[in-house]
Amino acid sequence: MRFNVAQLLKRATGSSRRYQMREDIEGIDPALIIREPLVGQIEMVRTADGILVTGELTTAVELQCDRCLEPFIQKVEFRIEEEFQPAIEMGTGAQLPYDEDTRIDEHHILDLTELIRQSIFLTLPMHPICRPDCLGLCEWCGKNLNEGPCGCQEPKADPRLEILKKLK
Ligand SMILES: [Zn+2]
Ligand SMILES: [Zn+2]
Repeated sequence: MRFNVAQLLKRATGSSRRYQMREDIEGIDPALIIREPLVGQIEMVRTADGILVTGELTTAVELQCDRCLEPFIQKVEFRIEEEFQPAIEMGTGAQLPYDEDTRIDEHHILDLTELIRQSIFLTLPMHPICRPDCLGLCEWCGKNLNEGPCGCQEPKADPRLEILKKLK
């Protein structure tokens, strides 16, 4: 997701460009299993100091359900908004201080990869669930209860534990 922004940097503050994105982002991170291309629209606006990038993007990743442990596909939708700044000043070529993740390199390449990688992680649920009514695994035999009941019976409550519960 590298964009050459040399032309936009030469234009007046407020100038903008839109890009329709459809990118294969498999391999963007070893911990992510990407199941759909990244799709959406981004806009780049020339600011006094650099280029402001905004956009609405979607993709899909494969996660493992916390309850039933089965893999499932989670839609990922996120918004980006970040200002990128040149590593060197246009015209003079002087080095400018910059943030590694949001810099425009000396060849005028603005790379969205790191911003998008981080945005996907921020969007993922802490406890992924394959569906809201996932029944999970039987705690006695381990069967996936989404596939049907297992025949285990809830063991009778231990009367000694019941007493302890009442004391709480
Ligand atoms: Zn599940
Ligand atoms: Zn069971």
